[in-house]
Amino acid sequence: MTFALRHIGPDPDAQTQMLKAIGYASLDALMDAAIPEVIRWHGTLALPPAASEEETIAELREIAGRNAVTTSMIGLGYYGTVTPAVIRRNVMENPAWYTAYTPYQPEISQGRLEALLNFQTMVTDLTGMATANASMLDEGTAVAEAMTLARRSSKSKSNVYAVDADTLPQTLAVLRTRAEPLGIELRLVDLDAGGELPAEYFGLHLQYPGASGAVRDHAPLVEAAHAAGALVTVAADLLALALLRAPGEIGADIAAGTTQRFGVPLGFGGPHAGYLAVRAGLERSLPGRLVGVSRDADGAPAYRLALQTREQHIRRERATSNICTAQVLLAVMASMYAVYHGPRGLRAIAQRVHDHALALAGGLAAAGVEVAHAAFFDTVTAVVPARAAAVVAAAAEAGIDLRFVDEDRVSVSCDETTTAAVVADVLAAFGAAPAVAAQCGARPLARTTDYLTHPVFSTHHSETAMLRYLRRLSDSDYALDRGMIPLGSCTMKLNATTEMEPVTWPEFADIHPFAPASRTAGYEALVAQLEAWLAEITGYDAVSVQPNAGSQGELAGLLAIRGYHRARGDVHRDVCLIPSSAHGTNAASAVMAGMRVVVVACDDNGNVDLADLDAKIAKHRDALAAIMVTYPSTHGVYERGIAELCGKVHDAGGQVYVDGANLNALVGFARPGKFGADVSHLNLHKTFCIPHGGGGPGVGPVAVRSHLAEFLPGDPLEPGDHHAVSAAAHGSAGILPISWAYLRMMGPDGLAQATSVAVLAANYVAVRLREHYPVLYAGNEGLVAHECILDLRPITKATGVSVDDVAKRLIDYGFHAPTMSFPVAGTLMVEPTESEDLAELDRFCAAMIAIKGEIDRVAAGEWPRDDNPLHHAPHTAAAVSADEWPHAYPRSLAGFPEGVDRAAKYWPPVRRIDGAYGDRNLVCSCPSPEAFED
Ligand SMILES: *Cc1c(COP(=O)(O)O)cnc(C)c1O
Repeated sequence: MTFALRHIGPDPDAQTQMLKAIGYASLDALMDAAIPEVIRWHGTLALPPAASEEETIAELREIAGRNAVTTSMIGLGYYGTVTPAVIRRNVMENPAWYTAYTPYQPEISQGRLEALLNFQTMVTDLTGMATANASMLDEGTAVAEAMTLARRSSKSKSNVYAVDADTLPQTLAVLRTRAEPLGIELRLVDLDAGGELPAEYFGLHLQYPGASGAVRDHAPLVEAAHAAGALVTVAADLLALALLRAPGEIGADIAAGTTQRFGVPLGFGGPHAGYLAVRAGLERSLPGRLVGVSRDADGAPAYRLALQTREQHIRRERATSNICTAQVLLAVMASMYAVYHGPRGLRAIAQRVHDHALALAGGLAAAGVEVAHAAFFDTVTAVVPARAAAVVAAAAEAGIDLRFVDEDRVSVSCDETTTAAVVADVLAAFGAAPAVAAQCGARPLARTTDYLTHPVFSTHHSETAMLRYLRRLSDSDYALDRGMIPLGSCTMKLNATTEMEPVTWPEFADIHPFAPASRTAGYEALVAQLEAWLAEITGYDAVSVQPNAGSQGELAGLLAIRGYHRARGDVHRDVCLIPSSAHGTNAASAVMAGMRVVVVACDDNGNVDLADLDAKIAKHRDALAAIMVTYPSTHGVYERGIAELCGKVHDAGGQVYVDGANLNALVGFARPGKFGADVSHLNLHKTFCIPHGGGGPGVGPVAVRSHLAEFLPGDPLEPGDHHAVSAAAHGSAGILPISWAYLRMMGPDGLAQATSVAVLAANYVAVRLREHYPVLYAGNEGLVAHECILDLRPITKATGVSVDDVAKRLIDYGFHAPTMSFPVAGTLMVEPTESEDLAELDRFCAAMIAIKGEIDRVAAGEWPRDDNPLHHAPHTAAAVSADEWPHAYPRSLAGFPEGVDRAAKYWPPVRRIDGAYGDRNLVCSCPSPEAFED
């Protein structure tokens, strides 16, 4: 059997049956009818023909073999680490964790929400800050978000952001990218050379320890900055903070960084969870997802996402940032590393790392090699006049990569994997030998406060306890390993095991992003091939996989447009037209790219209103930079007007950005780069099988036509004219083998078939549910694209039953809810994808129909509006089995509605959660165990 037949859920017989139900003779006939001819492409993708799973693994082994796993001591924010095997196998390689969705339905997400709360607690404890969010995309973007947070929160009128010259170079590159469009001026301050702070500035960024390894006492600078009305960000290494005074203890306003070295493999640059934490008073300006504690319908403590009104889904161009998909799976891993080691284990690891650095410095000093800084944690910079290249080469001979700083200096970073033998080898490369360990000058900055004091960090230290803790949390959650997740716009399709396997191979996992090119030929080949395949699929000329989420792809694409206009002298073009139906990230990204958002209306059929478009173009003709549209539209329809729309914008001198999140409806049938668009981002974590990870990782490649190619992101270590949107050249390179394997195994025919079946499945669901719930929008011949919107507003109006009630009731039936109230409030958007088989599609339709039957009984007055199975959904095992049952409907209906397999029932651990209560009483770190007692 070919892989395509395994990836695609409905088999040929089922497809025939589904086609019959919607009235088409074949998949081809369906696609001919559904896709407007103006965009239709009739070619065959020039991709290699499908390979089997075994062949694909063999090819990937060969590619991986071209990467050289070495001992990397390059440092610069990326370090060797030991992923505890129990975490690798039971989190990173476990579909119960990696196939979950972002925890917007908190009742079925308590496990990952608890893990994320542990993450937030770990970060707040170690940094000494009040509140941490649930992960950022990497250190560079976390620091950039800290800068804009400081801009929003500082009262200073200055546009100057002062930056420690000892900042990680890739962080500096991302800061530059993000500062320029916002009119923020970066001012580097060389602290060692006695550099002075600017006269006026709104914020100060400090690196701790510095890129050189130096540990400095930043307290006087924090004081000076506060006196000037500026906010201070400290980018701190969390492992160093196990030994060093925390940023919060010296009055920092914001702490940012990465949690990579807490057990997350290097992966040639990612994915890793960045972190961002703030002092009290700034939590409502904090970007990103924040987990909080609230209570459920029984008053029991329960977790959910807090303060969502800050986010782009609601605030759009006024959001705190464009971050949507973050790094949940990696944040879970890092938090579990802290749970596994606990405070004492963590301190011991940090001490060991530091001791190796001291041994290294001692050996160098004994041999007469100057060590640049007296105070350091893990990184020693050696001064070797004119000898740096020779030292680096000698170490490379021994299989150890050191950092060439400049001709006279070499840096060496110790990490958890460093041994005395490695230290001896490094010393040998310098022509030195082990000697008495140095004394560290950082002693006055030693940490005296506790961390990780919550019991969760001290109770799961045996492997048995750890395994059971992980199992208990993942058992609380509903992920793709239990059943369908029909979320519109999210494309929750199969993530095949064969696609996932290579990710944890050492030849992909253990490669430093700044390793010398001679070590990374496999990755370079894989990236080049994947970029070429994506260019072929989208019809564009050039692709960059650097953006580590869709939102970052949007920013990269808009910056390319900005760069293009500016290069032509069109500096005044700064208006971005965005339809009212657009995803919230679009507007937020446009603002980050220095653009003004102008909203274009949609007509009654959900299409972009071309008359309003004309009006907006006329009004902003000279300032028009771009239009951002999603195709197929966020309404799940192939709009016929797209080519005309592109023409109108081009005629006015604007560029067309097509948000490619819905590419699952196009692959093999239409190519945005050929139907009029100039740039798109794709979501490899939607269309191309990277699992959602409970809210990340993701990859958001940006694809452009040739005239924009020179404005694509560049290597953050060699920025030149190219901006970098993430801290590593290829972003989250470590998960690219997943998409590579998917394309390799599907081949051109399999991919086109997947698209057809995705469209078939959506239309099948639409046809089956249409008489029970109105389907809001349709295109050609009444067909939808790959998703459909069910309109609940008339039902809500007539019965009081809300989308929320239906979503929660679906949990009782064993389903994850569809997308709620996006893009239209009061509706559910269903995207079944090609991977769900007919039995599962039918089970979903049956559940939705049964729920409609329940709604009808409410409407008929059979059950009170405030006492029916919808109103009280979801039902826990505890509620259903309680000795008292005060409700107007039977227990059996509550717990085992029609079609539910009693032996395989999913029970949510909590009842419906009160979100507003949690926002009013904000608690964002682990509550004490007593809080759970009654
Ligand atoms: C998912 C999505 C995005 C954002 O992608 P992230 O990876 O979550 O940042 C943007 N636009 C649309 C239409 C989407 O569905």
